[in-house]
Amino acid sequence: MLRQALHAISRSDRAERVVSTSPLTADVVRRYVADDVGRAVDELTRAGLLVSVDHLGEAVHDRTQAERAVQAYLALLERLPEGADVSVRLTALGLRLSEQLALDNAATICESAVSMGITLTLDAEEHDTIAALHSIHATLRKEHPDVGVVVQAYLRDSVRRCHRLEGARVRLCKGAYTAPGAYTSAADVDRSFARCLRVLMAGTGYPMVATHDPRLIRIAAALAVLEERDPSGFEFQMLYGVRPDEQERLAAEGARVRVHVPYGAAWYPYLMRSLAERPANLAFFARSLLTR
Ligand code: FAD
Repeated sequence: MLRQALHAISRSDRAERVVSTSPLTADVVRRYVADDVGRAVDELTRAGLLVSVDHLGEAVHDRTQAERAVQAYLALLERLPEGADVSVRLTALGLRLSEQLALDNAATICESAVSMGITLTLDAEEHDTIAALHSIHATLRKEHPDVGVVVQAYLRDSVRRCHRLEGARVRLCKGAYTAPGAYTSAADVDRSFARCLRVLMAGTGYPMVATHDPRLIRIAAALAVLEERDPSGFEFQMLYGVRPDEQERLAAEGARVRVHVPYGAAWYPYLMRSLAERPANLAFFARSLLTR
């Protein structure tokens, strides 16, 4: 119930105005969204962590906004070190206007990224964009084999999808949206995640294990050992501001750990989705509002 309400709030312009204009929101935003992306990337890199940077922006409804998003990514690339990754949402590049537009825009960012030794990963969004996501990923991959894509374990065809993505860079996550027919119980999503992990770890691609869940992290590590994967053959990914101690602990043990760093003014839907995912974060949010 609460989760659905927060998802609805994440799409409400009125709620966005109320929350965004509250000066009390700033602390919460700073914890999960980098206010100075250059500094955040430097600090994480110095701590031995890799980064995937996400220029926040949701679905655009005209070409000018999509072009603005492309320019923001091109400017961002100039500030990132080699080995970094950029996370891209196709709806921010115009997917809701036309698949071809999103493909062309993603290709422009991808070409620039590849020339700088930076990878690009396509985020998974609402269920009605997933077919286009994989079609665009397949097209880009022909020219740029390292383009990554996200699989959401809550979708019932996620295991089959992992088989189809054999050889690719695949970020596996639980899924942050809602989808008709998707697994809804935590136990089902976790089981699906573990099954996907088995396929990805046994394959020839590069698994990116995006979770903060200690049990799934242990399962991923065990499967990597079972499949005799070198620590450089897969990575863990976590969100900026979430379980930073665990990020450093895994890196200190020799694992590759990448931190997903969101930045930019369009933080509202991102933050609301994070809260919907983990309503316990609401307590943190409420405390920040009350104690500032
Ligand atoms: P949860 O079920 O949220 O948490 C499991 C356990 O992890 C908790 O019980 C707790 O022990 C621990 N934990 C979780 N959060 C915290 C916290 N804040 N503090 C302390 N402990 C905590 N979703 C998409 O739909 N599309 C995407 O493209 C996408 N990209 C992502 C990229 C990255 C790098 C990550 C990490 C997530 C991404 N997600 C994406 C979001 C993802 O789908 C989940 O919604 C989100 O990660 C929460 O799931 P979880 O696996 O961390 O487990």
